[in-house]
Amino acid sequence: MSAVCDPPGGPVFLSIVVPVFNEEESLPALAARLRPVLDGVGEPYEVLTVDDGSTDKTPRVLEDLRGAWPELRVVTLRRNSGHQAALTAGLHRARGAYVISMDADLQDPPEVIPRMLDLARSDGLDVVYGVRTDRSADSGFKRRTAAGYYWLMRRLAGPHVPAQAGDFRLLSRQVVETLKSLPEQQQIHRLLIPWLGFPDGRITYQRGERVAGTTKYPLHKMVLLALDSVTSFSAAPLRLATAIGAGSLVVCLGFLVWTLVAHATGNTLPGWTSLITTVLFFGAVQLFCVGMLGEYVARIYTAVQARPAYFVARDTDGERR
Ligand code: UDP
Ligand code: MG
Repeated sequence: MSAVCDPPGGPVFLSIVVPVFNEEESLPALAARLRPVLDGVGEPYEVLTVDDGSTDKTPRVLEDLRGAWPELRVVTLRRNSGHQAALTAGLHRARGAYVISMDADLQDPPEVIPRMLDLARSDGLDVVYGVRTDRSADSGFKRRTAAGYYWLMRRLAGPHVPAQAGDFRLLSRQVVETLKSLPEQQQIHRLLIPWLGFPDGRITYQRGERVAGTTKYPLHKMVLLALDSVTSFSAAPLRLATAIGAGSLVVCLGFLVWTLVAHATGNTLPGWTSLITTVLFFGAVQLFCVGMLGEYVARIYTAVQARPAYFVARDTDGERR
């Protein structure tokens, strides 16, 4: 294990990184359940909450909690930058020798944290994934889309991506430093971390119900995450476009032969249906393939701009209370 990050507010063994977006109702419950667990670990820790541009009373609630809990640290982002960006901000600023990321809504039970730490320390692991065994607390739609997501990711990004492992996981300082050294601004951690190839282990847990409030992952954000995941880890859709193009070419050649035969036999007038079908079919194929190309071009554009994924407005680390 390499050295702990430099400490403005004293040494830290364990950092808990919690991205927070409009979680005014969940935060007091999170603090009440998390604090005894962390106090019980018996090592210096920090709970690094990343306020991802909340528009409810989250900043006030965090400030109040901080007054009574010295280990609570608040990093405030300038605006809502998304869960993955908030997680990146937290990982970049965490100071612990071990860093555990978790959600604010208590769907990831804090009681699992000591088990993760014990496994990492006893087996000398750099990554410990929290793997959800029971998702009955999630909606049927969420479960099915999640199953489809992991199935696709394991096929595209490789079988080293653990199924049903979200963003509840432990990382060693070495992994965090490696992530920080990557040039990618928009990081999809659940794919990037397995790809780094550090020794890893798994702890299974039951995913609970959201303690309060509603999901901050509406359908459009789920679709975006899936698109980002696919395009950041695989060129398979581009190859699919090539395959569709090749298939269409074969169909086209068949039509060409048929047209020539029809012409030779003087049977050329009927054919409105096949004409329209062909025009519509190839129009759709072309638009689909151009769209897929566009997805990659958009991401190349974002990567070339190299804008930071987040801006920090405030970090309470080392601030006087
Ligand atoms: N979150 C965030 N920024 C966002 C959306 C979500 O920081 O733009 C946080 C949210 O507060 C929570 C975590 O990311 O702590 C996971 O979100 P949520 O629990 O709503 O997702 P779900 O469990 O429904 O997939
Ligand atoms: Mg949740």
